[in-house]
Amino acid sequence: MATRTLETDVLVVGAGPVGLMLAGELRLGGAATVVLERRDAPTTESRASTLHARTMELLDSRGLLDALGTPPHEPRGHFGGVPLDLTLPSPWPGQWKVPQTRTEELLQDWALGLGADLRRGHELRAVRVGEGSGAGVEAVAAGPGGRALRVRARFVVGCDGEDSTLRRLTGAEFPGRDAGRELLRADVAGIDVPDRRFQRLEKGLAIAARRGDGVTRVMVHEFGAGPGGGEPEFGEVAQVWKRVTGEDISSGDPLWVNSFGDADRQLTDYRRGPVLFAGDAAHQQMPIGGQALNLGLQDAVNLGWKLAAEVRGRAPAGLLDTYHAERHAVGGRVLANIRAQALLLLGGPEVEPVRALLGELIAERPQVRAHLAGMISGLDIRYDADAEDPLLGARLPYVQLRGPEGALDTADLLRTGGRGLLLDLAGDARLRTAMRPWADRIVTVTARPAPDSALGAARAVLVRPDGYVAWTGTEATSDGPEIALKNWFGISDRN
Ligand SMILES: Cc1cc2nc3c(=O)[nH]c(=O)nc-3n(C[C@H](O)[C@H](O)[C@H](O)COP(=O)(O)OP(=O)(O)OC[C@H]3O[C@@H](n4cnc5c(N)ncnc54)[C@H](O)[C@@H]3O)c2cc1C
Repeated sequence: MATRTLETDVLVVGAGPVGLMLAGELRLGGAATVVLERRDAPTTESRASTLHARTMELLDSRGLLDALGTPPHEPRGHFGGVPLDLTLPSPWPGQWKVPQTRTEELLQDWALGLGADLRRGHELRAVRVGEGSGAGVEAVAAGPGGRALRVRARFVVGCDGEDSTLRRLTGAEFPGRDAGRELLRADVAGIDVPDRRFQRLEKGLAIAARRGDGVTRVMVHEFGAGPGGGEPEFGEVAQVWKRVTGEDISSGDPLWVNSFGDADRQLTDYRRGPVLFAGDAAHQQMPIGGQALNLGLQDAVNLGWKLAAEVRGRAPAGLLDTYHAERHAVGGRVLANIRAQALLLLGGPEVEPVRALLGELIAERPQVRAHLAGMISGLDIRYDADAEDPLLGARLPYVQLRGPEGALDTADLLRTGGRGLLLDLAGDARLRTAMRPWADRIVTVTARPAPDSALGAARAVLVRPDGYVAWTGTEATSDGPEIALKNWFGISDRN
């Protein structure tokens, strides 16, 4: 059978949430995008269910939240099972409960609507990376009926999950630790057990939550037990549940059974030439506190506009390498907090004194609570942590403003359709004129912030397409935005 061949700018492997988010971002930036997905249809498996504040802000900036309605909201979260109020200044504080299947459906509709070419039923089997810069890649996938599809692309991004085929085919280093313990999980109909939120009993940890449809999700860990290896049977979950809680759930009807361990790995390089990775393909972690999905979606939003600029010939030198520099550091920090949480959650009685102390610090020290909430929600990410100005490298804070047409806020302004934003806070006509050559990639808005806002003394703020601040102008600094514009947005054709 003849092999068909496609040519594209970017090949994305995997149409999970991260691959779909990336495909949408690439299309917003104008890159031709093919997505290969081995599944014929989206998964119906129940996986992540939490969207944190920073992810909600990003989805809002892409106009994606209206379709979600108002999902169930929970200001409370936890750190390793110790209760933690996640509320921080944001239009979307706390946790928002959206089944991963719904998030994927939303992202798929969006990416397809923007023109991504999604090929379901196509499994990546081989890849050849060209020699020299600009040589690109050639991938081969097995399609329906075993028919081969060859894809030539300038870049390939592995969004193919924790057992990434692209990682294996390219021999990418993925150092870290195998799982030393696990949490067993089952969705069970026909049982009647009390709801439990991280209940620590003498022999283990038990969690139970009954849903509106009568199905109960149970999760259990027996202190000191290692991972069983492979997917568990319901009989094993019921036995461990019995040993930990004393309750018999063996007569229940298991709808879904799985387990997750505390394996912890991170790619050494998120980019090697034309090969990049995002999401679970780049980092493996225990899904504690719903951070895994959020971390991956934010990888995609960081990468999409940079890669699109690169393939369109607009990227300044080094822009694409900031993806690894920024997201590897963020991923490392999230993995570290997950390791700490796994110890607190799955450790036996020996961790009780640390848990008690942490609980006291969270309750009595507002800064400790805010620090942990910033970390879990992703709101504290700062890509330029050494800069003196606290706004630089941080997300544009949530602030009320007054524009020519009345009141608005920064969330309204960030809906730029994937472009950058220049916020002129002092009505500076010269600045607006200077921005004209970049009008195709940056939206300029004049507005005044409310007094004492988190924008401080800034008279102007330049924001990247992913919502992070690239430059601020104040009375004290006479430098204009030119260097930041060239570093992040490239030289405009109209200069
Ligand atoms: C069983 C399970 C339960 C989970 N529970 C939670 C939870 O409760 N809370 C939480 O926060 N997170 C949870 N997670 C983690 C969360 O689901 C992931 O972080 C998230 O799905 C990562 O998205 P991704 O797009 O990077 O990878 P994935 O969602 O794994 O998507 C990868 C995609 O790539 C495709 N693919 C793989 N190989 C190939 C190939 N060779 N060719 C073409 N396509 C390929 C796959 O079919 C898949 O669609 C769970 C994960 C699993 C597996």
